[in-house]
Amino acid sequence: MTDLHSRHQAVLPEWLALYYQNPIELTHGEGRHVWDAEGRKYLDFFGGILTTMTAHALPEVTKAVTEQASRLIHSSTLYLNRPMIDLAERVAHLSGIPDARVFFTTSGTEANDTALMLATTYRRSNQLLAMRNSYHGRSFSTVGLTGNRNWSPTSLSPLQTLYVHGGVRYRGPFAHLSDAQFIEACVADLEDVLGQTRGQVAALIAEPIQGVGGFTSPPDGLYAAFREVLTREGILWIADEVQTGWGRTGDHFWGWQAHAENGPPDIMTFAKGIGNGMSIGGVVARSEVMNCIDSGSISTFGGSPITMAAGLANLSYLLEHDLQGNSRRVGGLLLERLRAIGAATPCVREVRGRGLMAGIEIVRPGTDQAWPQAAGQVQEAAREGGLLLGKGGGHNTSVLRIAPPLSLTVAEAEEGAAVLERALRSV
Ligand code: PMP
Repeated sequence: MTDLHSRHQAVLPEWLALYYQNPIELTHGEGRHVWDAEGRKYLDFFGGILTTMTAHALPEVTKAVTEQASRLIHSSTLYLNRPMIDLAERVAHLSGIPDARVFFTTSGTEANDTALMLATTYRRSNQLLAMRNSYHGRSFSTVGLTGNRNWSPTSLSPLQTLYVHGGVRYRGPFAHLSDAQFIEACVADLEDVLGQTRGQVAALIAEPIQGVGGFTSPPDGLYAAFREVLTREGILWIADEVQTGWGRTGDHFWGWQAHAENGPPDIMTFAKGIGNGMSIGGVVARSEVMNCIDSGSISTFGGSPITMAAGLANLSYLLEHDLQGNSRRVGGLLLERLRAIGAATPCVREVRGRGLMAGIEIVRPGTDQAWPQAAGQVQEAAREGGLLLGKGGGHNTSVLRIAPPLSLTVAEAEEGAAVLERALRSV
């Protein structure tokens, strides 16, 4: 164990998860690559979801942040804040939510927590619907929503949450159905669960593609079908776009747009990559919902000028370079290559994804049984080959997750796939 690792163990909580038997100390990054303290270079196939939406050390973002830092670093509230207003206008416009208001936070957890406060206040109810296998954050309220119990450090909750089917297409009682039948069965399940609630349910919260849950997604249109039922009951729809936003899925700018037939969500949350590493989260809601709070409120750091400067520069880069299009093109090629590798690898049950978001489900060959140990071995072997991968999944992290920065090139996609192929073979 390195000295830094043992100091980590001695001073930080035991439940703070670390990747790899010998965890990596990252020291710098550039483009789609990062380097560790020993000078080893890695192709980063996971940082795109964590923080780095566009590219590591993007000069445009670095310049915006250093310029802002040399002028003013201050709280976001109590005074007019130009970068915050500029970014809020752009996010409101991009959101697709009519009469949108934007509130910035410092994390996805805090964004979802705020969304919950809005929905429960608007509906005067603490009853929530969430998806099985979901992840929504680590605060007291969001842990109480999270269906994936691998990531719910406490079972106590201030909310009453009921979980419905639909987030996972390939496993469970409806797996054998056609897409249309799957949607029908999930709507019937939703109706059934609603029939067991007493009084009002405030909202349904859902990730359009489950992130921590292993990049699982329902057929397009599921949430539009849910929406019909929710609207009838006056229940709000909260889309958690923390992993799926900003063009990551290639086909759409927001994940919910694959389910848009019956209109946009009432509330949308975002975080992670928009600041390219600076902590930005946020909530967008139509004004009637956002303004249902009946007292003043502030966030000292949510929307601070320095994070907003990063967000503005990053968003401009993303749009000007059509990184959503890049995600569709390069992600499409990568998925094709991964599917071919998967088809020739007995422990790969499924390769799935959309855009630059790919999941590889690892099972014991010939069965449907999750095989987290093998997934861990592939992750270690890929690291040895100079490739960083993520893990996830409802069944004890048996899914390898791939989500590189959105500027990934075709050559890098091919390079990463080749390392991954060797890593899979070595298990
Ligand atoms: N929602 C989703 C879908 C997430 O994936 C995450 C983070 N993994 C969160 C919320 C929480 O975000 P944060 O870690 O920034 O609090």
